[in-house]
Amino acid sequence: MSKIYDVAIIGAGPAGLAAGLYAARARMNVVILEKNATGGQIVTTDEVANYPGSIPEATGPSLIARMVEQCNEFGAEFMKKGVKEVDFDNQIKELILEDDSVLKAKVIIIATGAKPRKTGAPGEIELIGKGVSYCATCDADFFTDMEVYCIGGGDTAVEEAMYLSKFASKVTLVHRRDELRAAKSIQEKAFKNEKIDFIWDSVVKEISGDGIVEQLVLTNKKTGEDMVIDAPEEFGTFGIFIFIGFMPNSELFTDKVEMERGYIVTSPDMKTNVDGVFAAGDIRVKSLRQVVTATADGAIAAVQAEHYITNNF
Ligand code: NAP
Repeated sequence: MSKIYDVAIIGAGPAGLAAGLYAARARMNVVILEKNATGGQIVTTDEVANYPGSIPEATGPSLIARMVEQCNEFGAEFMKKGVKEVDFDNQIKELILEDDSVLKAKVIIIATGAKPRKTGAPGEIELIGKGVSYCATCDADFFTDMEVYCIGGGDTAVEEAMYLSKFASKVTLVHRRDELRAAKSIQEKAFKNEKIDFIWDSVVKEISGDGIVEQLVLTNKKTGEDMVIDAPEEFGTFGIFIFIGFMPNSELFTDKVEMERGYIVTSPDMKTNVDGVFAAGDIRVKSLRQVVTATADGAIAAVQAEHYITNNF
């Protein structure tokens, strides 16, 4: 008979790693599946100032590296494979992996997180990695002494604009309204930053260029007028960093668990509407998506998984 894990966790971001750590520490047989790089979105962040107790030097990657270390210390298994299908119909759950192998577990914890939202403007996808980016930590360095445009008005856009200002000669934040969504404390710092300019009431109409970003066209929503921004001759290009929120990675679970607008509905105990299936972190319906709430979700899901196994197997 093939191996049956106690807990299979899908996703190795903060929620999945916290669940892995708690479940392994409770001596359960745990596997953490991840098709991409370990760590989720937080590894794209340079500064983790609001995770309670984090040391001042903490970065997304350093925090994740320590979480992985803790999972390993307690004996969680890591598997670098994607899941292509799930079967939650029976008491033993099945995950069909990308190599067609089947992984069985008594409990599944879904911690697949979210991905950056796209503007949908023509040229955006074609020019990803060629001037269009969703990660300042990853790509800021490429734009040292160059101009960059940041799209969005939330905490992420404003914080990342400030980070980019350490590299770029000038950062222009483009927001679709005339007021930022970001927390006032974050806004204040950005308004004081002499390298950051603002373009209000504007959205991205088109991004273009021959293999590299050369032009950005914005439309002013109030006047309907277009603004064409061409790359300065000196560099022939500039950066466009897009930070307009996130989309849940939940396609795999459509019609398998209850969802709202693509996010998984859970009880406060992280239970989905399917027995033995839990969800944790950014993937679930919740009011605050942060590392601290993701790790808390993961811990709760793992403890509840243990109760579920004790009562049902
Ligand atoms: P967000 O709060 O959802 O903000 C998204 C921003 O993008 C908004 O300003 C929105 O405009 C704009 N936007 C959305 N769709 C757009 C489109 N199609 N075209 C142009 N603009 C568009 O996302 P976020 O800033 O990534 O933050 C996500 C969550 O993480 C939030 O809860 C946030 O508080 C949290 N966060 C916290 C921190 C921190 O505490 N230090 C740091 C980063 C993120 P409107 O304002 O007009 O809706």
